[in-house]
Amino acid sequence: MKSYTKYLWFNTKSRYDIVNITPQVEEAISESKVKEGFCLVNAMHITASVFINDNESGLHQDFLAWVEKLAPYGKDKYKHNLTGEDNGDAHLKRTIMGREVVAAVTNGNLDFGPWERIFYGEFDGQRRKRVLIKIIGE
Ligand code: ZN
Repeated sequence: MKSYTKYLWFNTKSRYDIVNITPQVEEAISESKVKEGFCLVNAMHITASVFINDNESGLHQDFLAWVEKLAPYGKDKYKHNLTGEDNGDAHLKRTIMGREVVAAVTNGNLDFGPWERIFYGEFDGQRRKRVLIKIIGE
């Protein structure tokens, strides 16, 4: 069995962002030489997400508006912020949007439905943060 590990780094310009990372994941699969197996992609920070959905800008705005409604930013809104941090909202947003995805690799490619793409969801950006890609298979 082959195993391949790669780290991606992000430093988004804005506090909140959604980045299509499908090309980087496809590149990692190609580098891994795995033809049949699985690909795990996870955010390594507890204020960022990795999720699969549609690459449509209106939907991305909808996601950001939706999580803002569920967990609005606010220094005085969260007990977590009593630590001196201001990212209580980002921890909750990360949990809503998910930590990781696992995708099948078939014939050396992501075995996706027609509109599925992989995204990095940032909820406390403007600093360097990491995503792990782990591919296993034959
Ligand atoms: Zn925090």
